[in-house]
Amino acid sequence: MRAVVYHGVNDLRLETVPVPRIGPGELLVRVAACGVCPTDIKKIQYGTVPPPRIFGHETAGVIAKLGSGISNLGWKLGDRVALHHHVPCLDCHFCRHHAFAQCATYKRTGITAGFEPAGGGYAEYVRVMPFVLPGVVKIPAKNSFAEGALLEPVNTVLKAVRRLDLLPGDVVLVAGQGPIGLMFTRLLQLAGARVIATDLMPARLRLAKKFGAQWTVNASSSRSIGTVGAEVTRLGPSARPRDPASTLNPQPSTLIHCVIHRATRGHGLDAAVIAVPSDAVVRQSLAWLRGGGQLMLFAHTKRNSLAHPMGEGGRRPGEDSQKSTSTLNFPLDLASICVDEKDLLGSYSSDFTLQREVARLVFSRQLDVRQLISHSFPLEQTAAAVALAAHPTPDSLKILVTS
Ligand SMILES: [Zn+2]
Ligand SMILES: [Zn+2]
Repeated sequence: MRAVVYHGVNDLRLETVPVPRIGPGELLVRVAACGVCPTDIKKIQYGTVPPPRIFGHETAGVIAKLGSGISNLGWKLGDRVALHHHVPCLDCHFCRHHAFAQCATYKRTGITAGFEPAGGGYAEYVRVMPFVLPGVVKIPAKNSFAEGALLEPVNTVLKAVRRLDLLPGDVVLVAGQGPIGLMFTRLLQLAGARVIATDLMPARLRLAKKFGAQWTVNASSSRSIGTVGAEVTRLGPSARPRDPASTLNPQPSTLIHCVIHRATRGHGLDAAVIAVPSDAVVRQSLAWLRGGGQLMLFAHTKRNSLAHPMGEGGRRPGEDSQKSTSTLNFPLDLASICVDEKDLLGSYSSDFTLQREVARLVFSRQLDVRQLISHSFPLEQTAAAVALAAHPTPDSLKILVTS
């Protein structure tokens, strides 16, 4: 079969490899669609895991072969399925604390197209191991494989939304309106929050409106007036903060400050979701939180150089030092955590116990992920798909590899 094999930093090659053999209780799935995920891009760009591997973990396809005993579990040839590559044991110390992403079983990848299991979605067939079968979902006839492929990223976003302690009507900033940020905007709206969406790209802000943002603000201060003009007009002339002793710190990007001030009656944000890997955005958003508010880090997935397995000297030629954003590079007043009781939270990966609800949200199109998909590339152009996802353009959003 054809597969795109990772051989090192930015080195993806289309190769012919054996169709994976399956054992008892396993499935062989013919891949129809696989999403390009930032976590795979990071591994490909920075070489954080040893080659060779076949990446791609947002996978949907058709059951092509059944291992012995599996038809007893209700699976049959030709079933259209969305896969889930990580399932926790539900029994260990981490799982008892609901910290599934830290569970040793969860960290094992249960789907492979060959080599060290890494998802395998950038291949024609994948082998699905028994321990991840509880996460496999049938795709209804009216829904597409692309919708099935997006269950996994939606799951990660719903997990993070559930970590926030929100009341109906709370005001939440979602910084960054890429595919993940847009999923946050919609799921937060469905959860009863009022969302302020920011991004640098006007097209993404327009989509954020469609996805339920109550306010959209262009994060680039020079362009912000035009973008939030309508909102500020609607807010009225008193939208600008009048009280210099407001709980919000004065910030240079005045328009977003106005919107937050007015939307929250000067209290500050109930929560902020950081869906861009920018420390500056974290710093500013932390200042905009009300006392007791929560800041959710969702895009700071790259460890700092000291934690890099290759050490500080391991940076590869061409690796962009600007991308190493996970080292705190601004002064953090810890009293904002202690005295102001602001929570700094993170969320990573999925929670398979939410999978049923995620499937309901996506397949009912309450969260219509079809609008998030901007490009589909054939398998042989996976490298181009990854390159585009790594360098988004105004018209690019979620990118799929299809076969
Ligand atoms: Zn993913
Ligand atoms: Zn566990």
